[in-house]
Amino acid sequence: MKILFKGHQFKYETEATVKLFIPGRFEFLYDAVYADGDIVCSQLRRGRENIYLFASCRVSGKRARKALKLPKEKEALCEHEICRLVFECLKKITGITPPWGLLTGIRPVKKMTALLESGLDKKQCFEALEKKYSVTQRRLELAYDTAVYQMPLLKSVKSGSISLYISIPFCPTRCSYCSFVSHSIESAKKLIPDYVRALCREIEIVGKIISDLSLSVDTIYIGGGTPTAIEASLLDIVMKALSDNIDISSVREYSVEAGRPDTMTEKKLEVIIKNGAGRISVNPQTMNDDVLKRIGRRHTAEDMINAFKLARDIGFKNINTDLITGLPGDSMESFKDTLSKIRELDPESITVHTLTLKRSAELYRENIEAFENNPAAKMTEYAADILPAAGYRPYYLYRQKNTIENLENIGFAKEGMESLYNIFIMDETQVILGAGCAASTKLIDKNGKITRIHNYKFPYEYIGRFDELMKKKNQIYEILGE
Ligand code: SF4
Repeated sequence: MKILFKGHQFKYETEATVKLFIPGRFEFLYDAVYADGDIVCSQLRRGRENIYLFASCRVSGKRARKALKLPKEKEALCEHEICRLVFECLKKITGITPPWGLLTGIRPVKKMTALLESGLDKKQCFEALEKKYSVTQRRLELAYDTAVYQMPLLKSVKSGSISLYISIPFCPTRCSYCSFVSHSIESAKKLIPDYVRALCREIEIVGKIISDLSLSVDTIYIGGGTPTAIEASLLDIVMKALSDNIDISSVREYSVEAGRPDTMTEKKLEVIIKNGAGRISVNPQTMNDDVLKRIGRRHTAEDMINAFKLARDIGFKNINTDLITGLPGDSMESFKDTLSKIRELDPESITVHTLTLKRSAELYRENIEAFENNPAAKMTEYAADILPAAGYRPYYLYRQKNTIENLENIGFAKEGMESLYNIFIMDETQVILGAGCAASTKLIDKNGKITRIHNYKFPYEYIGRFDELMKKKNQIYEILGE
């Protein structure tokens, strides 16, 4: 597929629009006169008083054209309007209606929240987003419900409060769809004690920054990877480093991503609860054993049920479970069965992700055809119907690039059992200090400008270049100390 630009260079947004309909790689041509094969062409021509925009698309022998005239003073709208013309042509040719319309950003709820905060009512918000982005009614409802849930929680964030993210990037095996920086426990075994030592040193440094700047910790999230993949004694060392170096008395939510059920032992769960974390996430992704095998997991649905019950017996009152729609080999029937089994366990929150096709994932490289005719959209809509009826409300929502059918990930929670950390990280209103491999620190200055500091991606690099990395942390003083 070729994308041809004439008289403009709105490459990024045009490509994102084409990807709503046609996955894959594109060849970009600028001001070429002719190109054969499938093509999306958009053109901008300036007249004396007006700007003329055109789109013409040819895909699998089908064609569509659209044109628009804009007065010169509306030049700032050209990029969006050219994308709209391309969108309408491809919608006509392919018969696809992208659920989020032209809205390609990863945080659709932020747009809804901004409109609500500007004083518009629900109907006006819907009209505005429908008109500008052609968002479907169903997604407007979803974004609205999520925004309404979040607004009072976002207002509860106190000035000077921060969230803390601690990364333990190891997993028992690598899932075939995984594109995170996670290392199998087998291959990284020798590195783990050194990693834990470095992480504890970074926690000490971050603790000093928090105290020097009189910040208060609002939420803590220990994620990865699978933090429970390391031994209980090492997890205890990390969690003790947190309470020894940081005042956690102000913490409203302390989560550990237990992740894979096959890593959860009584000892590890006791370490987590004893060190003050009250929320865990147990993530089967599916309750279909064949699909679990196919995605490279070593546990069964029964292991998940046992791990969940063990966590309840030990005293966890806030448990999340993560699921993924569109996994290879999964069907609508099997997804319904997964949801019903999860609901029997009665977790406080259920996060429904849609499979994402990242090139770094083994699944993408090996089995790309598995994504054709994927029932992910039906599964996601089924979850969005069934879960609110069962008392779970959507409370956070985000999109990722390369997700099947441009769908979304939705966190559903029982009233009052949502994850604050998830909301804050998506809304970008709270400073996040990260520690550990691949963790990122997000600083927000008094004008709302965001600066990110990224830790090294790989454990050996994180350990070997630790002092160099810590120098970068001085930026925290510069930005937050103002
Ligand atoms: S458990 Fe999560 S981080 Fe670990 S390999 Fe699977 S998808 Fe990646």
